[in-house]
Amino acid sequence: MTDNDRVIIAGAGPVGCSSALYLAQKGIPVTLLEARGSLPEDLRASTYHSPTLDMLDDLGVVDKLIEKGIICPKWQYRDTRDDWMVEWDLGVLENDTRHPYRVQCEQFKLTGIIVEELKKFDNVDVRFNTAAISADQDEYGVTLNVKTPDRPEALKGRYLIAADGASSAIRTTQGIEFPGLTFPALWLCVSTEFKFEDHFKNLAPVSYCAAEDFWFLLLRVPGMWRVLMPSREGQTAEALVLEDSVQELMHRVVPIPGNFEIIHRTAYSVHQRVADSYQKGRVFLVGDAAHLNNPLGGMGMNGGIHDGLNISKKIVRVWNGEAGEPELDLYETQRRPVALDYVQKSTMNNKAMLEENDPAVRKTKQAELSAVAADREKAREYLLQSSMISSLADAADGA
Ligand SMILES: Cc1cc2nc3c(=O)[nH]c(=O)nc-3n(C[C@H](O)[C@H](O)[C@H](O)COP(=O)(O)OP(=O)(O)OC[C@H]3O[C@@H](n4cnc5c(N)ncnc54)[C@H](O)[C@@H]3O)c2cc1C
Repeated sequence: MTDNDRVIIAGAGPVGCSSALYLAQKGIPVTLLEARGSLPEDLRASTYHSPTLDMLDDLGVVDKLIEKGIICPKWQYRDTRDDWMVEWDLGVLENDTRHPYRVQCEQFKLTGIIVEELKKFDNVDVRFNTAAISADQDEYGVTLNVKTPDRPEALKGRYLIAADGASSAIRTTQGIEFPGLTFPALWLCVSTEFKFEDHFKNLAPVSYCAAEDFWFLLLRVPGMWRVLMPSREGQTAEALVLEDSVQELMHRVVPIPGNFEIIHRTAYSVHQRVADSYQKGRVFLVGDAAHLNNPLGGMGMNGGIHDGLNISKKIVRVWNGEAGEPELDLYETQRRPVALDYVQKSTMNNKAMLEENDPAVRKTKQAELSAVAADREKAREYLLQSSMISSLADAADGA
């Protein structure tokens, strides 16, 4: 074995971890690098869609994820102004997926499960406190320059999967542009044990709610609710997480007497961006390193896992001599259009729907959605889209 006989993955988020597990299970040596000293435990993704659950099932980790999460067979759009609600029953996907539901579970629980699983493999080296800085490549492999607490190092691999998140050092140092936009208002994510189910009739574990000049998402995770909502334009992250500011937004969700007890709060910048290219030679961008979208629809992590497994499957085929290296070029052709034409559009449409203030337009939209949900075949078509099953089918051989 030469020192190019491994795949390096930078970033132990959900995308890097699931790619590493797939490659390891196929017998490919992997080095998985994480800049931080331990797995991040931030309040980000919580929704896993059906096809992602099928993939995690193939990786042998879905049962553990479900054990730590909540099965969510139905989700809702609501408009508190019109007392309107439409409910989507994912059961209509029973012939399209082995998991006709969403699972609500924090993304850090998945990375924890997978990193434990990776310990079973002799061919996997997981390194914390190791930050990818830049990469050089030639016709045989990639040299990744990394920073560790002790010294800089140069790691060699045959391919590099850049799963190093939104600010990807690899994307930047490879000179790949990341065009798009950043919304002027930050979004606040709060968790609380407050019982929203006592205040909203028949509340599903995932509900997208429009309100007067405001919107919010209610997302159930084990033991608590998460609330995602926009701030005022120009409000800084420091100001947004202050107690008064958090309470003010939470009282727009439910105007209770007194304060909400808040367990966690985080302010996020929200972007819509897609990298100009997903590949530079032996380097492949996946997940947030390749694309960013607003979280309305729960597509960033899910799409990222689909990317990671797509390129990993191709690497395995090339590695085993079942396909030539041009096979790897299909990754960008298959996955970049999904981000551009599907995820960006769906998430922007979801945002526009929640922000629609024209009563006539929103009533028309509500009537359309209610009619779709009431018709089993139309509802199935709608849910194939929103669950990202269609986007995988469109990407030729999928992930
Ligand atoms: C509030 C909120 C809610 C969301 N909800 C959902 C949802 O329900 N469903 C969904 O699909 N998506 C959701 N998303 C998006 C989702 O969180 C991201 O798309 C997902 O985390 C991307 O995974 P990733 O592995 O590509 O990147 P990340 O999760 O960002 O992981 C990147 C990893 O790389 C590490 N790293 C960074 N730089 C380096 C470096 N130079 N070298 C080595 N390691 C490095 C980081 O520490 C991190 O561990 C949400 C986002 C937000 C903000």
